[in-house]
Amino acid sequence: MKDSLNKKVLLITGGAGFIGSNFLEFLLKKYSHYKLINIDNLTYAGNLENLVHIETSNNYTFIKGDICNRELLEHIFNFYDIRGVIHFAAESHVDNSITSPNNFIRTNIIGTFTLLEVARSYWMMGPGKYKKGYEDCRFHHISTDEVYGSLGKEGFFTERSPYAPRSPYSASKASSDMIVKSYYHTYGLNIIITNCSNNYGPKQAREKFIPKIIESALNYNSIPVYGDGTNVRDWLYVTDHCRGIDVVYHFGKIGETYNIGGNNERQNNYVVEKVCEILDEIIPLDDRENNGIKSFKDLISYVKDRPGHDRRYAVDTTKISQELGWRPVENFEETLRETVIWYTGDINRKVLL
Ligand code: NAD
Repeated sequence: MKDSLNKKVLLITGGAGFIGSNFLEFLLKKYSHYKLINIDNLTYAGNLENLVHIETSNNYTFIKGDICNRELLEHIFNFYDIRGVIHFAAESHVDNSITSPNNFIRTNIIGTFTLLEVARSYWMMGPGKYKKGYEDCRFHHISTDEVYGSLGKEGFFTERSPYAPRSPYSASKASSDMIVKSYYHTYGLNIIITNCSNNYGPKQAREKFIPKIIESALNYNSIPVYGDGTNVRDWLYVTDHCRGIDVVYHFGKIGETYNIGGNNERQNNYVVEKVCEILDEIIPLDDRENNGIKSFKDLISYVKDRPGHDRRYAVDTTKISQELGWRPVENFEETLRETVIWYTGDINRKVLL
């Protein structure tokens, strides 16, 4: 089915997850000339409730499917005449990659490879030769700053930093980045990669750091913090990330990598205490005292560190800001507050409890 209204059809992978679902909503609001096809196989991290605001849009279609299924991908490319891919689908939780790395190798490496193969054969006639009319079809790979490894107290990751992944998650993302780059150098496929720092915001799976703090607190369970809580992450609000992907997809240079970060380094201790302070304001003191605590901070508990836990990530965003004019605009404390309120709100509370 070539789209009857001549809309350009983009394939978004992993759009039922945290960043993908925020991005779909962002893109549909901003552009009316795209039709977006979301392929997601709904692992524990995919949730169709993340998409309730867009599920009835004429410009949106959901397909439950696996990105490792080549036949299905070929059918989707042919049926919808796919003209661009923005690839979010991944196994994304470092702890899971330590206990069971298989799915990370399968989805993050084999899945990315399968998508590249199908895009290449649908869009191109041979190395360096796009089919007529398909010349601007682009493959945007969403990746992480974790591919660069761990930093000491000083310095930042730039696009020229050597890859030094240290967990099966980051190693699988690094591998997929390399394969994506090879399709540019070998076949001339129009690829682009963004490597982003830690995101926060609504719709994130409950196992991740900030939702985990909130879920534990609301259940009056201890709030686990790895090691001594001094690990540092560069936090970026998810809509800032969506804006970054948008500018890179539309204006970034073919074959290039752009780092996206929040310029917002925080120790885990700061984040957990801040979330607890916000919860203390929202949840009445009576409720807390009935559960034996005065403040949610009383529930913080330091647990044995994650093996190979990276100390610090920090991203230099000079390239994307100078070339494409992007910079993060959201305030950390304000959007963290909105995030906590989203998770504790009556409607959304069922996501966690
Ligand atoms: P997520 O785990 O919330 O969502 C991943 C989605 O992919 C889920 O909906 C899941 O069902 C789907 N999926 C998994 N395996 C699939 C398969 N084989 N076929 C089809 N769908 C599959 O992840 P997220 O946090 O939204 O991250 C999205 C992307 O951004 C990932 O590639 C991740 O590496 C990258 N990233 C995330 C962060 C972050 O802080 N969350 C930071 C930088 C980069």
